[in-house]
Amino acid sequence: MPDVSAPLVPRPSVGVQGRPGGFTAESVRQDFPVLHRTVNGHPLVWLDNAATTQKPRQVIEALTAYYSTANSNIHRGAHTMAREATEAYEAGRAAVADFLGAPSPDDVVFVRGTTEAVNLVAQTWGRAHLGPGDDILVPVLEHHSNIVPWQLIAKETRARVVPVPLTRNGEIDQDAYADLLSARTRLVVISHASNVLGTVPPVKEMTALAHRYGARVLVDGAQAVAHFPVDVLDLGADFYALSGHKLFAPTGIGALYTRQEILAGMAPWQGGGNMIESVDFGKTTFAAVPHRMEAGTGHISGVIGLLAAVNWLTSLDRAAVAAYEDALMSYALQALATVPGLELIGSAPDRIAVLTFTLAGHDPATVADWLDRDGIAVRAGHHCAQPALAHYGLESAARASLALYNTSDDVDRLVTSLRGLQASA
Ligand code: PLP
Repeated sequence: MPDVSAPLVPRPSVGVQGRPGGFTAESVRQDFPVLHRTVNGHPLVWLDNAATTQKPRQVIEALTAYYSTANSNIHRGAHTMAREATEAYEAGRAAVADFLGAPSPDDVVFVRGTTEAVNLVAQTWGRAHLGPGDDILVPVLEHHSNIVPWQLIAKETRARVVPVPLTRNGEIDQDAYADLLSARTRLVVISHASNVLGTVPPVKEMTALAHRYGARVLVDGAQAVAHFPVDVLDLGADFYALSGHKLFAPTGIGALYTRQEILAGMAPWQGGGNMIESVDFGKTTFAAVPHRMEAGTGHISGVIGLLAAVNWLTSLDRAAVAAYEDALMSYALQALATVPGLELIGSAPDRIAVLTFTLAGHDPATVADWLDRDGIAVRAGHHCAQPALAHYGLESAARASLALYNTSDDVDRLVTSLRGLQASA
């Protein structure tokens, strides 16, 4: 067991205290049962938050309560439980709209996650609006789920996917972006935070510039929403996608915000129950949005869990959370600098606490395996962002990604274990 009693470098001090409304990492940790388990004989250190976040008991209890007392299908119910489940589901939609600063719950479509949200936009809006010679600008730091759906629809519509290059420190090259924008640009897609470099691009400014060319802008919020407040109106986003499971909610549920005048004009993308007004072999008419985009029985319990997660997160002082995460990241950067042979990739001034690195003499899978033996969960591989890694000449890297419940003790455990690996070589 590594000695974690002595701090490696001065600890972050963030003067934010107490709950409700306030925030301390120690107090929120009490909400997460899984953080109290051991892995391979060591207390768990969960540093794989960019892959998925852990769930607070408020979310777990909401799921149990739903299945214990209110399970029912929704929207067609002629009985009390159906009405209760429908109300909870629609309360989830209203909560997500509020969470994103969307004007109306009707602007929010429930989907499986960010990947499905992007595919929905590509297959509906994209199919209707993209054509030969149109450009879709895609920064090199995007997750595969914000690249491949555009390649697929570009192939069908004979549009072009145009990569927007990165600078050495992992920012989107703003000069290149401005040069690539043209009357041909139909769509710009941007991650609000990169899952491999942590970069938080100037989305608001990039969106304003794209709009000057008449282009639409899709923002991938998968990595952003757990870390800082989002206001889709302030950003000017036409589409904003998120995944519940990266936001302390269950897997299999996510949301797509779309500006109402765009959403209202979008054709359905899947057919089935729930999305129709009337069905006849002569003519079928469709429900209004957002229901038109939600064919079949939705992930009702997922929405209940997402509602609980959003309520839980917004009960905290989010400015304090962001300040804490920033301080913890600075601490982690200093502490990781003491590990011989460790090289971080991505050093954008504005970023979330995603620490992607290589360790001289060890491939990333070996690093992850070594850390796992010490109870520390990190990810190794291409992180579904191969072009971003290729920008640094890499095919694979290790990644420690922090969340609001991580502490400087977690960072110390990581650093001590990595130093141990180097010492063992
Ligand atoms: N976009 C980013 C930036 C991500 O990090 C991820 C997942 O890691 C996704 C999109 C895809 O999210 P999901 O797999 O939940 O659809």
